[in-house]
Amino acid sequence: MLELQNLKKVYKVGNTVTKALDDVSVAFRQKEFVAILGPSGSGKTTFLNVVGGLDRYDSGDMIINGQSTKSFKDTDWDAYRNNSIGFVFQSYNLISHLGITDNVELGMTLSGVSKEEKRQKAEDALRRVGLGDHLNKKPNQLSGGQMQRVAIARALANDPDILLCDEPTGALDSDTGIQIMELIQELSLEKLVIMVTHNPELAENYANRIIEFSDGQMVGDSNPYDNTVEADKLNLKRTKMSYFTALSLSFKNIWTKKGRTFLTAFASSIGIIGIAVVLSLSNGFQKQIDQTQAETLAQFPITISQIAQDTSAENLTNIEDSDEPFPKTSEVVANVDPRENFQHINPIDEEFIDYVENIDPALSQHINYARSTQLNLMREIDGEPQMVQFSNVDSENQTTGDMMNMVSSMTGVGVSTFPHNLDSGNNTFLQDNYDVLSGNYPANENEVVLIVDENNEANLHGLNNLGFEVEEGDAIPFEDIVGTKIALVYNNAYYEELLTGNYVPNQDLEEVYNNDSNEIITVSGVLRIKEDSPMDLLAPGIAYSDLLAQKVVNENQKSDVVQAQEDSDVNVMTNEPIEGESKDQVMTFLGANEIPNTIMIYPNNFEAKDEVLAYLDEFNEGKANEDKIIYSDLAGTMTELTGGLMDAITYVLIAFAAISLITSMIMISIITYTSVLERTKEIGVLKALGARKKDITRVFDAETLILGVFSGVIGIVVAYLLTSPINSMIESLTELSNVAQLDPVHAIVLVIISTILTVLGGHIPAKMAANKDAAIALRAD
Ligand code: ADP
Ligand code: MG
Repeated sequence: MLELQNLKKVYKVGNTVTKALDDVSVAFRQKEFVAILGPSGSGKTTFLNVVGGLDRYDSGDMIINGQSTKSFKDTDWDAYRNNSIGFVFQSYNLISHLGITDNVELGMTLSGVSKEEKRQKAEDALRRVGLGDHLNKKPNQLSGGQMQRVAIARALANDPDILLCDEPTGALDSDTGIQIMELIQELSLEKLVIMVTHNPELAENYANRIIEFSDGQMVGDSNPYDNTVEADKLNLKRTKMSYFTALSLSFKNIWTKKGRTFLTAFASSIGIIGIAVVLSLSNGFQKQIDQTQAETLAQFPITISQIAQDTSAENLTNIEDSDEPFPKTSEVVANVDPRENFQHINPIDEEFIDYVENIDPALSQHINYARSTQLNLMREIDGEPQMVQFSNVDSENQTTGDMMNMVSSMTGVGVSTFPHNLDSGNNTFLQDNYDVLSGNYPANENEVVLIVDENNEANLHGLNNLGFEVEEGDAIPFEDIVGTKIALVYNNAYYEELLTGNYVPNQDLEEVYNNDSNEIITVSGVLRIKEDSPMDLLAPGIAYSDLLAQKVVNENQKSDVVQAQEDSDVNVMTNEPIEGESKDQVMTFLGANEIPNTIMIYPNNFEAKDEVLAYLDEFNEGKANEDKIIYSDLAGTMTELTGGLMDAITYVLIAFAAISLITSMIMISIITYTSVLERTKEIGVLKALGARKKDITRVFDAETLILGVFSGVIGIVVAYLLTSPINSMIESLTELSNVAQLDPVHAIVLVIISTILTVLGGHIPAKMAANKDAAIALRAD
């Protein structure tokens, strides 16, 4: 059944060439007990390894069941070892972290025998070698002879045709050795047993054929066999280790060194801890920022001004300086500030106003309009009518006033008209956001309110403009303000036409004040922002409904002064020549223009803002550039700024944490490599039992997989535990609570990353392990 023809095997180390097998030809019977004798170094082990398929021959042929093995591939040899060969070594080579039953099962595990059958066969084999009472022990709980019995049981379990024993009694005392010899002799009645020994006495007593080796050559054969009978064709079942087997093998190995594994996993989890903490912090800070932004959002509406800045990308690229700065020429080049091109006149018209008014109230309930229409207001103070104003602008220091107007129109803070509610037309805006300190909410557009800030303060200039003679720090009782009556005078009563055709304010204030067409405006109450309201829009001072402004515009449009101005090329009040835009301004001032010069849209919440913006963008679709309406979204600009900053910080921190992750990956590689070195024997045994290279890789990959998952989980758990002390530290420093929050998605992703990196780091040593020469591995003692 087994025949060797002119087998040669040479080892070359440096310049030394050792002929380990030198032209060996021999045939074996189906069942016999062959003992191989010979001095040390004569090639006995090499012979066994070649016969068992652990080592390759250089030339010649080995014929198994009539089939040449010349064209055998690695997998054929693996299957051959697993199916047909049982190895027994001098040093037992049991895997110490597996129980003896598991050790015996290993070969069957590789060939995919079912769990029950495996257990059954393993126990049968162990009983057969006389270990029925020790099934649940570990190798280190057995004596040498018992361990060799386990090794024999392991070799027998898969019912091989050939049993190869390399000095099986070499490490045993003579009594125990005799028992083992009797066992092997018994087995040789059913199988071909080839046993290497240096004990001629044992060979004489038990074997029925003795072959002698010397310097790689066969120098004697007591019972040659040359009757080569064609036998059944060799039918080898391929071996294959399942992932599950690999995992459970690795798990058992890891289990035997729990402490070390834990430390390793913990050390390599530090990178994960770092990244998880950074992520949870940036996560939390982003949430805080978002929340703050939502609160500030109200104060930063989407603003559409008549004069806007077009900061679209194509304009921004134009701003880039010429490519040759600091030229050596001796000329000055005339240039236009590129920012000038940014100016965009928004063609706000009724169509657009209607479009804005059609915004879904679910997105924005408050839309405010600012108009530069002059309100002609008068109040009787000490029996004398006087001109008054609703504005906070210091009339004596116009420059500061202009500055403040600019700031307020940019930010939207401090406007003096309150938005009417798109939903109902009622002033729910005031009811929702302002408390009445005295008096009432306005009942109609002819009622206005005085807004005070959280300290009950109102703008000094605003109060002066209203006719209250106060200095900074002076206090006015509520009842002096509530109920104050102000006359709103329309243009026809306010302006008188001179003979020259000019219009000037009528100087007879008494007459103007008492005109029947005047509207009587009442200050209905003093209002203060609610403590929890984010909609702190109104400047401390008089606030009135936009409906009042609209009413004035509607009325004044028909006034004589407006008609006259429309037909004139000069300012009808000053006689100065005017044209174009400046005429529009005068017309607006006189109330001819019902189009507001600024529209402020207050989205209901952060998400609604995006939809409002999309709605506004839709208006521009397909329009020429000059017909487009450009809005400014200050809150959005701020979001981008802070968001970008947060992202940048996060990236930097993650980069640092990633370095520690890489470090731990290298560490895992080193640890796997050490583990490979430690487990050389085990790799050899697995190979002797028919494991493929792939299977060996799989065992180590499985081990690093377990390690990776474990260290990822430790990392996440530790990071999670860290969030609470980190949060209390941040809270004591910044009064922000619950900043660090670990996103579960991040947690899962990090465990996956840790696993992948660890497996990658361990894979190279695992490959090295798989490529280890089994014959060398098993020689190492
Ligand atoms: P034995 O088992 O009879 O003591 P071996 O088969 O182990 O002899 O060794 C036969 C010869 O081959 C010896 O000279 C040994 O040094 C050499 N040899 C065995 N394995 C290797 C190897 N992997 N590399 C180099 N030489 C080897
Ligand atoms: Mg040897």
